[in-house]
Amino acid sequence: MEIIDKVYSIDSIGFDSNCYIIGKNEITIVDTGASPEYAKFIIEKIRSFGLDISNIHKIIITHRHPDHIGGLKKLLELLSSNSILVYVHKKFITYYKLSNVKGLSDGEILNLDGLLFKIIYTPGHTEDSICLYNEKYKILISGDTVFSFGNIGRVDLPGGNIKNLVKSIEKLAKLDVEFLLPGHMDFVMEGNKHIKQSLQFAKSNLIIYE
Ligand SMILES: [Zn+2]
Repeated sequence: MEIIDKVYSIDSIGFDSNCYIIGKNEITIVDTGASPEYAKFIIEKIRSFGLDISNIHKIIITHRHPDHIGGLKKLLELLSSNSILVYVHKKFITYYKLSNVKGLSDGEILNLDGLLFKIIYTPGHTEDSICLYNEKYKILISGDTVFSFGNIGRVDLPGGNIKNLVKSIEKLAKLDVEFLLPGHMDFVMEGNKHIKQSLQFAKSNLIIYE
């Protein structure tokens, strides 16, 4: 569905992450789901939004979990274009074994078809987690750092760290967020409220994991 002009969401199916589409004349895909089948679904959905798939130029990965990168290879194959750049956090750039991959740093700003998105490094769920923030329209694409209704990404997988997650959510809680677009679960309005609940919940988990 179209959330605001030039920003679309594609819901997950089963284990897939949600996927977000930014732009019309120059399209960016954020996260790719768990499987090659979901990659095909992404393409179908982009077409159903009335967009031209030859305008896809960038793929941004919020972190390297299989449910977010499982469709990446298939997407690149389906789009059969070497001009597509894959953006990931610079810490794990070599993990992808791709020639067209670019490393992102905290604070970097990407112009995605006229919408400016700031990269916010948010380790905790993984060591390479990033969020994308658009200040003008108050949009946060939060990966698996925070979800709606006070939920948070798990920290019991390799690279997970609850202390880092709390620090990262503290960073997010300072932003003015209206549209919260998480990696799983539904997108919600009044993002600030949801992020504050997530921060509280993450803090209450400090004791469990210490
Ligand atoms: Zn994850």
